[in-house]
Amino acid sequence: MIASPPSCDAAIPHLKQYWGYDSFLPLQDQAINAILNRQDSLVILPTGSGKSLCYQLPVLMMQGTAVVVSPLVSLMKDQVDTLNGMGIPAGILNSAMSESDRQQAIQTLSQGGYKLFYVAPEGLAKPSFLDLLSQCELAYFVIDEAHCISQWGHDFRSAYRELGQLRDRFPNLGIHAFTATATEPVRKDIVQALHLRHCTPIVGHFDRPNLLYRVQYRTNLMKQLCDILDRYPNEGGVIYCISRKDVDELAASLKSKGYNALPYHAGLTADARQRHQDAFMNERVNIIVATIAFGMGIDRSNIRFVIHTGMPKSIENYQQEAGRAGRDRLNAECVLLYSGVDVVKWRTIMGEPMTDYDRLSLEKLFEMSDYCQQSVCRHRFLVEYFGQAFEKSNCQHCDYCLGEFEELDDSLTVAQKILSCVARVKERFGAHHVAQVLSGAKTEKIRQFDHDLLSTYGILSAYSAKDIQLWIDQLLYQDFLLRDPQYGSLIITGFGKQLLKGERSVSLAKPHKPQKAGKRSKTSAAQLEPGWNTEDGQIFEALRQLRRTIATEQNVPPFIIFDDATLKEMVRHKPTSIRHFKGIKGVGSKKLETLCPRFLEVILKQTGLPETPPELSDNDWLDNPEPVAKSRKAFSRYASQNSSWADADDTPTSEHLKNTKALALDRFHAGASFESVMAATGRTKATVINYLSEYIKRAELTSAEPWLADDVVDAVGQVVAAVGKHRLQPIFEKLEGKIAYDDIRVALAVLENREQAF
Ligand code: ADP
Repeated sequence: MIASPPSCDAAIPHLKQYWGYDSFLPLQDQAINAILNRQDSLVILPTGSGKSLCYQLPVLMMQGTAVVVSPLVSLMKDQVDTLNGMGIPAGILNSAMSESDRQQAIQTLSQGGYKLFYVAPEGLAKPSFLDLLSQCELAYFVIDEAHCISQWGHDFRSAYRELGQLRDRFPNLGIHAFTATATEPVRKDIVQALHLRHCTPIVGHFDRPNLLYRVQYRTNLMKQLCDILDRYPNEGGVIYCISRKDVDELAASLKSKGYNALPYHAGLTADARQRHQDAFMNERVNIIVATIAFGMGIDRSNIRFVIHTGMPKSIENYQQEAGRAGRDRLNAECVLLYSGVDVVKWRTIMGEPMTDYDRLSLEKLFEMSDYCQQSVCRHRFLVEYFGQAFEKSNCQHCDYCLGEFEELDDSLTVAQKILSCVARVKERFGAHHVAQVLSGAKTEKIRQFDHDLLSTYGILSAYSAKDIQLWIDQLLYQDFLLRDPQYGSLIITGFGKQLLKGERSVSLAKPHKPQKAGKRSKTSAAQLEPGWNTEDGQIFEALRQLRRTIATEQNVPPFIIFDDATLKEMVRHKPTSIRHFKGIKGVGSKKLETLCPRFLEVILKQTGLPETPPELSDNDWLDNPEPVAKSRKAFSRYASQNSSWADADDTPTSEHLKNTKALALDRFHAGASFESVMAATGRTKATVINYLSEYIKRAELTSAEPWLADDVVDAVGQVVAAVGKHRLQPIFEKLEGKIAYDDIRVALAVLENREQAF
């Protein structure tokens, strides 16, 4: 009888244990089922839908290793760090690794030591590597960012084409392609190039409901930017510019205004680019000003805003760039600041359309311009552009649905005044000049052409030239005007002539009401979620600080430790024992054990709440380590003289404290790791250090290994000989801060025993 494949329901315990989630996001179960059933799959889910979990989880229920092909070292590294941080063995092979690290990785892979193995397409396609893989026990292949395989896609990478050979080499293994965006031709290309079998694409809804879209006419760029940035102090965001020059200038201006911003574009040295990207990913810098060169490797999950200072060249580009916001599924804002000149700028960059491709690019540019000009729901526009239906009548998450647009009461009169001014300047001038004339500006050019003598001079002086330019753009968009392709001068169309006679109607939007800018402050307004008070904001900030500290210690980006969504859950629930952390979404068992004691410490300190007594029955998730009694004779002697560790406590404490201490001493005696004792007792780090020191003394240990290396103890010993042992600070300073206070405390306990042993 053939065993039936494991089902997705059976995956729930793994979801809880490793990821700390209780249920699947939409379509995750389908994608996982396809892998478990060993069918090929093509999964198209937008950013933030939880694609990685779909291919990382099933291998935990299968024999062998899943091989994941990914286009960028930084993406691979972040995923491998995340997996290892969750307790899932994962490895990587890339050209930046040293020869010995490569050998080590290959050896572990061949011994079946990894559940997931990440490799770039170039590395995978090497015959020697394919030979190696054919000798390994493999579960399936994953092709991440699969759109890179298609020349129709935006990130075509020729090495992806080589992946076609996997089907022949490994006919019995499933191949699973994942991507965030794939048009129909790209999908076909992926299926054909990878030779996927019987594969119905699993396609999610393209809407990203957590993104708030706004489009604003660019009137005073710096002021508009600052209004947005001041709503997000301490939060990460990207500002996209069209040209490198704009990037450099804007980054410098923002810096001079005190914003923590760095530039990024292809003209910087590779070293500078890497440094700036790292600073952003590690949250040392919050704002990156960039061209589209700042791209695919950006997987920082807590990007709270993406601002475009000019119009992107296509909706696809916009979707990609704006889509970097809110990957953690929390709210984020995408603001596009545009002006009619952006189209002109792009047309200059693109040049005269010569080929079909050029003409398609131009069409895409106009579609992008439509997005800016149309007064419709932004979510609807984007979803329908990508060929899906949008059901909601009001998304509540874009400028249009939030009612930030208002129609001008006297649209027809304003439009007629503009058109007649275009006629008076004989259709020989561009939008900028026409707007200046209508607003009654006193410019050299107006004087030179005697335009201040025209009847239309200053007839819209109640408005700024910028507002008038906005309406000229709207008239262009509504086909009442057109721009001379060669000179950029405005020309009145047939429709425009009818409008002048009052034979057509027109609708112009009022200039955008600026969002209320919060005062620039050190605490983020965005941190103050609905229902949060100031204290909650402070707890969140303290948790973020701890996350940064741990990330630096582990040399990984902070979002790998915990994402913002998980930290916010902690603020919401304020767990006061390790047991309570089990209920926090995003806390799997490994992180519960290794990280949560430190987060508990911060929550208790910030809230002033007492710890909830741990219940021993709730510690069953811990490993039960084998006793390592060999070196613990003295303690065993002591233990045998005392019926329980609780009795061994000679200070009058409450029953539960006695139990906790007894548990800690017991665990240390069994050789448990420091972190697991913290988790088992639910006590703060400082308390558990005291327990460890006490255990060392009672057990008369002259070595603190495995908790502290002997050479650390020796180093402390040398300094103690010089400065004495009664105050920690001189010891710490003499050691130049290289050994932490906690380690010094443990070392002193050992040194005391060594003294007595003599
Ligand atoms: P994608 O690769 O599709 O952009 P990610 O894999 O980065 O998405 O996941 C986006 C976010 O969703 C991450 O913060 C991830 O932890 C979270 N997530 C994934 N699966 C679930 C789930 N089942 N429940 C809750 N959150 C989830």
